[in-house]
Amino acid sequence: MIINKAPFLYWYRTKCFIENKRIQEIDYHNRIAYIIKDAPSLLQDFIKIDINNEETIIDFVNNYGFLTHEFAGDKVKIGTLSSKGFKSTYSESVDSFKERVAEFKMLLILHKVYTSDEPVSVLLNPNNAISWHYRILSELRQRTRGYLDIKTENSVIKSIAIKEQDYFEGMEYSTSIIHSEKDLKSVASDILTRIINEGIKDICPMLKLNNEFNEINSTWKTRSLLEILYLKYYETISNGEELRRCANEKCNKEKYFPVRIDKVKRYCCNECAFQGMQNDAYREIRNPNSNKYSPAKAKFQEVYGKLYYLDSYNRIDREIFKKWSKKARKKLKDINNDTIKQSGFIEWLGVLEEAHKQAKEGKITYKKLEEIITILTRELEVEYNGKYQEKK
Ligand SMILES: [Zn+2]
Repeated sequence: MIINKAPFLYWYRTKCFIENKRIQEIDYHNRIAYIIKDAPSLLQDFIKIDINNEETIIDFVNNYGFLTHEFAGDKVKIGTLSSKGFKSTYSESVDSFKERVAEFKMLLILHKVYTSDEPVSVLLNPNNAISWHYRILSELRQRTRGYLDIKTENSVIKSIAIKEQDYFEGMEYSTSIIHSEKDLKSVASDILTRIINEGIKDICPMLKLNNEFNEINSTWKTRSLLEILYLKYYETISNGEELRRCANEKCNKEKYFPVRIDKVKRYCCNECAFQGMQNDAYREIRNPNSNKYSPAKAKFQEVYGKLYYLDSYNRIDREIFKKWSKKARKKLKDINNDTIKQSGFIEWLGVLEEAHKQAKEGKITYKKLEEIITILTRELEVEYNGKYQEKK
């Protein structure tokens, strides 16, 4: 008699098609039980569903089953399901399925707002185009309206502005900034936790005997795949992880991948990292005829790629690399189209490129390279005090 350490959590995949705005099961005989533990990318695969492409919904149900069918907790064999009263042609509304996908995509963004240092820019990122989930979006607007002006168009955020505060007598004595990005973070995290808690509130741990009544297993009592998806999101957050979208635009799996929130990891795999560095966007910023032409950006990506490589093989300290890239990115944003500043930035990157070359050739140690990265990062901090202009 043993108790299994890993909880058994089952669901049923099945075969389906879409007709009359319903996802319909072809035949209950197609139901095949699978163990959730054996489906590590369940949550990612749900979030990556393209709600404008119903084929991706069919794929998901074929792989993972319906969202809300209440067959969990049943120990009955597949063939006897009909005697339990299930109809052989179970179906689910396509619209409510899409609504759920949109909700989970939105959870991802709320989570990103929580983990990011620049929450406003997360919301403005066109890749995060917050469409569809009108309810969450309007709650976010409603609760931040005292200090943020979030303008939307067709449920997509178009602009976010910090509202001017009305001046009042005695305001100058106030020591705290009344409204900041921190408030946006807390509102987003509050909505996120509330939705997830609501989603998992009916799940509870449970002991279960096997069919021979000679083995006790531990499991969770769940009623739907949807609950399991919330549980998966709960696990992601409790593990200190987040789901990121692979930065390789050509990642053919359009993968979301779980990664610890403190890690610098933009690509789902090494292959994508390599491809991502050479993708169209990259080529465009290097093309003088393109309106996205930016030699500073191109140079940054080149050097970033080199350091990223060293970081992924643990040759350099991640914190040092992270600090550097954060400062450099900020700088890159600031210099925008200023050509004089751009050439200074390229020069700054050139120093690091040279140091990197020397480290690779064994002329300096990686420790030394780390020191140089730190010095350069500090230089950028000082530069904001006008040192840079003097040099030019
Ligand atoms: Zn990828």
